[in-house]
Amino acid sequence: MALTHNLGFPRIGVKRELKKALEAYWAGQSNEQELVETGRQLRERHWAIQHAAGNAFVTVGDFAWYDHILEWSTTLGVVPTRFNHPQNASVDLDTLFRMARGRAPTGEPAAACEMTKWFDTNYHYIVPELAADQAFYLARTSLFDQISEAQALGYQVKPVIPGLLTYLWLSKGPAFSSAEDAAKLELVPALLAVYKDVLARFAALGVKWVQIDEAALVLDLPAEWQQAYRQVYAELSAQPVDILLATYFGDVGDNTELVTSLPVAGVHFDLVRGPGQLDRVLSSWPADRVLSAGLISGRDVWRTDLDAAADRVKAAADKLGEQLWLAPASSLLHVPVDLAEETVLDEEIKSWLSFAVQKLDELALLAALLNKNATEAQQNALEAQRKALAERKVSRRIHNPAVADRLGQAAVVSRVRTPFAERIAKQREALGLPDFPTTTIGSFPQTPEIRKVRRDWKAGAISDTKYEEAIREEIREVVKFQEEAGLDVLVHGEPERNDMVEYFGELLAGFAFTQNGWVQSYGSRCVKPPIIYGDVARLIPMTVEWTAYAQSLTDRPMKGMLTGPVTVLQWSFVRDDQPRQTTCLQLALALRDEVQDLEKAGIRVIQIDEPAFREGLPLRKAQWQAYLDWAVDCFRVSTSGVEDTTQIHTHMCYSEFNDIIESIAAMDADVITIETSRSNMELLEAFERFNYPNDIGPGVYDIHSPNVPDREWMIQLMNKAATRLDRKQLWVNPDCGLKTRQWPETRSALIEMVNAAQALRSAV
Ligand code: GLN
Ligand code: ZN
Repeated sequence: MALTHNLGFPRIGVKRELKKALEAYWAGQSNEQELVETGRQLRERHWAIQHAAGNAFVTVGDFAWYDHILEWSTTLGVVPTRFNHPQNASVDLDTLFRMARGRAPTGEPAAACEMTKWFDTNYHYIVPELAADQAFYLARTSLFDQISEAQALGYQVKPVIPGLLTYLWLSKGPAFSSAEDAAKLELVPALLAVYKDVLARFAALGVKWVQIDEAALVLDLPAEWQQAYRQVYAELSAQPVDILLATYFGDVGDNTELVTSLPVAGVHFDLVRGPGQLDRVLSSWPADRVLSAGLISGRDVWRTDLDAAADRVKAAADKLGEQLWLAPASSLLHVPVDLAEETVLDEEIKSWLSFAVQKLDELALLAALLNKNATEAQQNALEAQRKALAERKVSRRIHNPAVADRLGQAAVVSRVRTPFAERIAKQREALGLPDFPTTTIGSFPQTPEIRKVRRDWKAGAISDTKYEEAIREEIREVVKFQEEAGLDVLVHGEPERNDMVEYFGELLAGFAFTQNGWVQSYGSRCVKPPIIYGDVARLIPMTVEWTAYAQSLTDRPMKGMLTGPVTVLQWSFVRDDQPRQTTCLQLALALRDEVQDLEKAGIRVIQIDEPAFREGLPLRKAQWQAYLDWAVDCFRVSTSGVEDTTQIHTHMCYSEFNDIIESIAAMDADVITIETSRSNMELLEAFERFNYPNDIGPGVYDIHSPNVPDREWMIQLMNKAATRLDRKQLWVNPDCGLKTRQWPETRSALIEMVNAAQALRSAV
C-alpha cells in the first residue's frame, strides 16, 4: 500500500490572506500579534486540507512570512552586518522583513537583500548573503514551534527544510564568484553542525521523517559539489531521524549514481519533469529505502492522467510495496490554491484544471487506483476525470483547424531580413534620426485615474465611447509631452494595458483567465498567470487602433508595442498537450500578423518586448541550445514579415547576456534596449566581445527609483558605452517602462535624458 504525502502547500491563502495581513502590518495598520494569528490560521487550514486528502503527514516548514529561503537564513543566523543584528541573538520578525524589503515597522532601514528567481519558476527567493567565515547558529525556533503546533492538532508531522548544499549553491557573498564556487564548500562543517542540531531537535519532538529539499541535484554539478553531497549526507544520515531527500524540477540525470548512493532513508523524484529516471533507479533500489514518486505536476494547472500515472509506477509498486510513496512532483507553491473559487470560468475548461487543493485530491485518487481500494465515490471521481480528459483531447475549444493549417505552413514563412547594414541605412534615412536617438521602453505612468477608467470600463460602469475618449486623452498628453521633451521615437504610453501579457491574452483565442488563480511571486506580491488552454489565434488587430491614433498626433515616428511570444509563454500556464515550442510558434504567427498590420497602418518602428527570454532557459546547459533555437526562431517569425525600412526593436530587462549573446544576435532586432544603469554598463561587455553589430540602447537610468537621474551621470554612462561599442550603434533610453513612476519625476528624468543625448551629439 503506497502512502501519499505533499512536498509543500501554497502559503499565501486562497483569498491572499497572507498578502493582506503582511501589507497591513507593514503599513502600521495592524500589530505583530494579528499578523502571527493570520499565519497560524493559514497553517491550520492548509494542514487540514492535506489531512483531509489522506496525506500520511502534514508538511511543516513550507510556511514563510516572506520566503522560505529567508526563513531558513534567519533560522541559521545569517543576517548581513548592515542590519545591525547582535551576534548570537535571536532574529525577530522585523529583522526578517528588513532583510526582505529594507524596512519594517521597527529597526533602522538598510539596503534590502537581493532577490532572484527560484530555479526555473517565477517565484523569487531572497538570496542568502554569506561571509567567507560565516558563523551559523540556531537563531529562530519558529520551525520547532510550528511542529508542536501541528502535533497539538493531532497530526503526524513531516518537517521540510532546504538542503544544506542547495542552500549554499543559492547563496552569494563577496568572497564567492558564482553559484558553484567551491570556496563556499569551506562553510560545510559549520553548517553541518547546525543541521545536526536541527535534526536532533526534530527527533526530540517525536518527528520520524524529515524532508530535505535538494533541488540542486537536478543541475549540472561540479565534482567537488558531488563529493560534498556524499560527505554531508553520510553525516546527516547518522542523525536519529529518517531523511527523505527531495529532488524536483527535473531529472537527476548524471547525478543519478550520486543520489542513489547517498545513505538516506528515502529519495523523492520528479517523474513529471523526469519520467525516465524511475527505470534507471528501480532495478537496484534497496528494499528498505523509500522511493517517493512525484506524479502530479506542481508546476501547471492541468488535471493528471491518473491511469497513465498509475501505469508508470506499477512496477515500482509491485517491487517496493509500502516503500513506494506517492506525491506531487514538486511543492504546490507554484500553482493557485483552489479551483472551487472560480465561479465564472467556463465549465468545460474548468473540468480540465486542477489547483493545489484538487491536486491533493488527485493524489488520493491515484493512491486508490494503485492500491485498488477506491471507494464508490472515488470510482465516480476517477470516471469523471477520465471523461473530462477524453473530452479535452478532442474539444473544439482547443483544436482550431485554421491554426493547424497555418502551423503546417509555418516552415515556409520567411525568417530572414536583408542584412542589417543595408536595413539600418534605409531606416536611418526614412526615420530621419540623429545620432544617439532617444526613446522610452513603452509605458508611461499609470495614474490612479487611468487605472480607474480601465476598471470602470471592465465593470461596465462606463461606456465604450467614454472609455475610448479617456484613453485617447491620455495618449494625447503622453505624445504632447514627448514632443515637448524632444524625444525622437515616441510611444503611446500603454494606458490601455494593465499587464503586458494579460492585455494580449484577452484579445487572443486560446486563453482563459481566473478570478482567484493567484500564485506567489515574492513576499506579498502575487501574479495571476493566464491559462493557455487551446490553439492561439489572433481574432482582431490588438494594438493598431491606439498606435495609429497616437501616430496621427505627431510627425515623429510612433513606436508600436507588442509583447513577444516567448514572454507570453513564460508568464502563462501553458497547455501540456503539445510541446511548448508549438504553442510559442502559434503565438509568433499571431504576432506576425499584428506586426504586419501595424506596418500597413503606417507605423515604422515596432518593439517586441522579450523580458522573459532568458528566463526560459532550461536548468541543464545541455538543453539550452534547443530552447534558444526555437525561441529565436519564434521571434524571427514575428518580426521578419516587414519592409527593410520598418525598424524592429526588442527590449529585455534585468538579464545577463554573456552566455546567450549569439542567440541575442541571431534575433536580429534592429535595436535592442536593455537594463544597464544599475550594473554600470557592465552588461555591454558581452556585446563588445561578440562585436554585436545591430543598434543597442543601454538603459541610462533605473526606473525603479523616483530619483531624477543626473545629466552628467548619464553622459558618463553613454561615454562608457561608446568605449565598448560604436557610437553610431547607440540609443539613449531608460532601463525599462515607466508605469510604476509618477509624472513629475518622469518629466524631469526624460528631459534630462534628452539633454544628455544632445550633449553627446554635439561633443564629437
Ligand atoms: N513595454 C513594456 C513597458 O514599458 C515593457 C515592460 C517590461 O520590460 N517588463 O512597460
Ligand atoms: Zn523592461
